[in-house]
Amino acid sequence: MPTTPSTIPTVKLLIAGKFIESQTTEWRDIVNPATQQVLARVPMATPAEVDAAVAAGKEAFKTWRHTPIGVRARIFLKYQQLIRDNIKEIASILTAEQGKTLPDAEGDIFRGLEVVEHAANIGNLQMGELANNVATGVDTYTVQQPLGVCAGITPFNFPAMIPLWMFPMAIACGNTFVLKPSEQDPMSTMRLVELAIEAGIPPGVLNVVHGGESVANAICDHADIKAVSFVGSTRVGTHVYNRASLAGKRVQCMMGAKNHAIILPDAHKEQTLNSLVGAAFGAAGQRCMALSVVILVGETQAWIPELVARTRTLTVGNGALAGTDVGPLISCAAKDRVESMIARGAGEGAKLELDGRLPPLTGSAREGNFVGPTIFSGVKPGMAIYDQEVFGPVLCIAEAPSLEAAIAMINANPNGNGTALFTQSGAAARKFQEEVDVGQVGINVPIPVPVPLFSFTGSRASKLGDLGPYGKQVVMFYTQTKTITERWFDDSSVSTGVNTTISLR
Ligand code: NAD
Repeated sequence: MPTTPSTIPTVKLLIAGKFIESQTTEWRDIVNPATQQVLARVPMATPAEVDAAVAAGKEAFKTWRHTPIGVRARIFLKYQQLIRDNIKEIASILTAEQGKTLPDAEGDIFRGLEVVEHAANIGNLQMGELANNVATGVDTYTVQQPLGVCAGITPFNFPAMIPLWMFPMAIACGNTFVLKPSEQDPMSTMRLVELAIEAGIPPGVLNVVHGGESVANAICDHADIKAVSFVGSTRVGTHVYNRASLAGKRVQCMMGAKNHAIILPDAHKEQTLNSLVGAAFGAAGQRCMALSVVILVGETQAWIPELVARTRTLTVGNGALAGTDVGPLISCAAKDRVESMIARGAGEGAKLELDGRLPPLTGSAREGNFVGPTIFSGVKPGMAIYDQEVFGPVLCIAEAPSLEAAIAMINANPNGNGTALFTQSGAAARKFQEEVDVGQVGINVPIPVPVPLFSFTGSRASKLGDLGPYGKQVVMFYTQTKTITERWFDDSSVSTGVNTTISLR
C-alpha cells in the first residue's frame, strides 16, 4: 500500500506560516485515478502536529481578531486575483489527482473563487444591529465577534471549491483556521493554500494538517477548536457532528445525497434531456448535487430511448484530454463499489438500459478507475441502487403517475440535498418548491448550487447543524453575537433614587 521512495514529492503541512515536512511514519500515495501513476505522498499528521497547528491558530487569533475589516477584505481581494491568474495550473493539478475533466476542474475552482470574492465583502456581511432609545437614553446594539480557532474537514470530490467554502469566510470573520483536506487529493487544495499565504494571510491564521480518521477525530476532540465545518458522507458527517458537538463545538455538516429530478409531460424535451445527461454523468456522478434519480411522469416515460441514445454519445477517458466528458472514479475501491452496485441493481430487478462497466479505453487509461455512464429503468424504493448513494455515473429512472406522487417519493427518501423539476407550468413549479423537503431546489435547473449571495443548505440526512456554508448563514456560524445595552449620562439625565424593578425605564 503506502510507498516511501524519496523521489516522490511529499505534501507539506502548514503550521504557523511554514510549509513543513511531517515527522509521521504513516504516508499514503496520491494516485492519478486515470492512470494509477503515483503523484505524491501525503502524511497522516501526528497528534503533536495537530496540536502545533491548533496552537499556532490560537496564538495568531490574539492579533488577527483585532485586524481591521479593510485589511482582512484586501487580502481576499488579492487572493481572488491570484486564483484567477493561476486557475489553469491549479486545474491541471486537480484533474491529475481527482480525475474530473479540465473544464470541470476550472469550474470547481471558479465556484470556490466566487466565495473568495464574497469574503472580500466581509465589511457588509459582518455588521451588527442597533436600536436607538430602547428605553430612555438607552441604546442596544450587537456585534458579531469571531469565535477563535475553527476547523474544516473536506471531501475528495471538490478539492478546490469546498476548502474555499470554508477558510476564506472563517478567516474574513476574524477567526483562525485549521484545514484538513481529503487525504485522497490534497495537492490542488495545497496550491490554493500557498496562494492564500501569498495573498497576505499572516502566519498561524491558516494552518493545514493532513490525515484521515484519526486526524479528523483529533479535530473533533481538541479543546481549543471552537467550530468545525464538515463536508462529506452522511456516515462520517454524523459521527463528526456527534463527536464535535459533545466536545462543545459549533458544528455544520453537509452530507450525502440522492438527488431526484421530476420530469412533467409539458417539459421542454430537448433542454430537459440535455440537462439530465449532463447532471447525471458530469464528474462521473461524483458530485453531491449529481442527479441520481429521474422520476418520469406520464408520457415522458417514452423518453427513455432518447435519454439512453444521448448518453451513449459521451466520451469516457482521461480528464486531461480534450473531448473527454466522463473521467475516472477516485479510486479502485470506488470503482469496485460502483460496479458491484450495478450488478446488484440488475439482480434486484431493475432494467439495465445502459451498462457502463468495461467502457472502451485506450493506452494508459486501461489502468484507470473507469466506469462509463449507466442507466437503470424500473427502479423502485427498496432496491440498493435507489436506497444508497452510489456516487458514480449511475442514473436510476423511476416512474410516477402524477406530480403529487413524485413529490411524495422524494420526501420519503432519507436524503434532502438537491432536487429539480422540469416543466413549463408555473403552478406546478410553485407547488413543487412549496412541498418538496429538500435543501436546494431547481426549476428547470438540474444542479441548483447557490451562488455565494445565498447559502448552501440541505434537509434531513443531508445536513446536520442549523447554518450552512457561505452566504449570510456562515457569518452567523463563524461569529458569536454579543448584545450590548448602554446608557450614557450627562448631568441633566442622572436619575435619583434606587430602582429595584427589572424595567430599564
Ligand atoms: P468521506 O465522508 O469519506 O470523507 C470526508 C472527510 O472525512 C475526509 O476528509 C476524510 O478524511 C474524513 N473521514 C473519512 N472517514 C472518517 C472517519 N471514519 N472519521 C472521521 N473522519 C473521516 O467523504 P468523501 O468520500 O471524501 O466525499 C464524498 C461524500 O461527500 C459523498 O457522500 C457526497 O455526497 C458528500 N458531499 C456532500 C456535499 C454537500 O454539500 N452536502 C458536498 C460534497 C460532497
